[in-house]
Amino acid sequence: MKNALIIGITGQDGSYLTELLLKKNYCVHGIVRRTSSMARSRLNHLYSNREIYNKFLFFHYSDLMDHTSLRRILLKIHPHEVYFLAGQSHVGLSFSIPEVTANEVGFSVLSLLEIIRDMSNPPKFFHASSSEIFGTPVQSPQNEETPYRPISPYGVSKTFATNMVQTYRDSYNLFLVNGIMYNHESSRRGENFVTKKICNYAAMITKNNSLKLPLGNIDVSRDWGHAIDYVYAMWLSLQNEKPGDYVLASGVSNTLQTFLELAFGFVGLSWEDFYLFDQRFVRPNESNNLVGNPEKAIKNLGWKRKFELSDIVEEMMEFELQNINLEK
Ligand code: NAP
Repeated sequence: MKNALIIGITGQDGSYLTELLLKKNYCVHGIVRRTSSMARSRLNHLYSNREIYNKFLFFHYSDLMDHTSLRRILLKIHPHEVYFLAGQSHVGLSFSIPEVTANEVGFSVLSLLEIIRDMSNPPKFFHASSSEIFGTPVQSPQNEETPYRPISPYGVSKTFATNMVQTYRDSYNLFLVNGIMYNHESSRRGENFVTKKICNYAAMITKNNSLKLPLGNIDVSRDWGHAIDYVYAMWLSLQNEKPGDYVLASGVSNTLQTFLELAFGFVGLSWEDFYLFDQRFVRPNESNNLVGNPEKAIKNLGWKRKFELSDIVEEMMEFELQNINLEK
């Protein structure tokens, strides 16, 4: 049985990857951190299953900033595969908390690479990089050769980590992979991400049509996919013969306005009737024209996506409609 360690197991991607690896008969270990509430909503169905938790799924307390405990856990478990899916993952918020972002998103990857370098049998390592490393890209669509030009603290931190992964791969002959991932969504997306917010409001407005949806710039375009497709690519990338970098994207660009149309259209409403421009949500600097070319992942990994944008919006809207909470 293979052992995997997921750093960021409680997040959107971590929860889907856990389900995938359990189905593939892995023993899955995850890093959890101390929080003021024990709610780990994305994993509750597995945590509460006695046939799974503490048999094939284990949680270990640590934190990206606690390198001693991370080292101890890695040496104890000796995983075959490590998936790094953790850290402050919100681009807009990285302008408010740049130091936390740099430490978690950038420096902690270097610390993990150092731990892995010292191990007698080093595990394969997947790093969740981001399209934000391209910032204002010199070409569209972007591929693995496109120069990095990040424009946010998040993008700069991901660029540092991505370069470190490449440097350690070339210098120490380690199996290290960068997945350069474009936006991927699902009903498990974090509450403060714009796609989740739009679906959440569209659902609430079906019960209270006096609500307004406050948003920043809606002309921005993004390349959206489903998290289930992306965690599958993560796993594939570590099963390949050689390590490398892979752009994981749908190859299709849509504006936020299109996302609004799809979400409100799902419940028979016009987004224009509820949209409210709100300066607070305009970022100091915004990436644009981010659209990826996933050809390498398709060719080398045999990656196939199952979900289109309309499927994603449908799933997210159905979830929100079942979980309307006007008080929240
Ligand atoms: P997410 O839902 O925000 O999950 C982040 C995870 O990191 C959570 O498990 C969180 O734990 C954990 N974490 C945060 N700070 C930590 C710390 N100091 N110590 C230990 N764990 C910590 O993110 P996601 O959407 O699943 O994304 C997964 C990864 O892919 C992230 O690295 C993100 O930057 C990257 N990425 C995501 C996208 C996307 O569109 N989703 C695109 C490109 C790249 P808690 O539950 O305790 O907060």
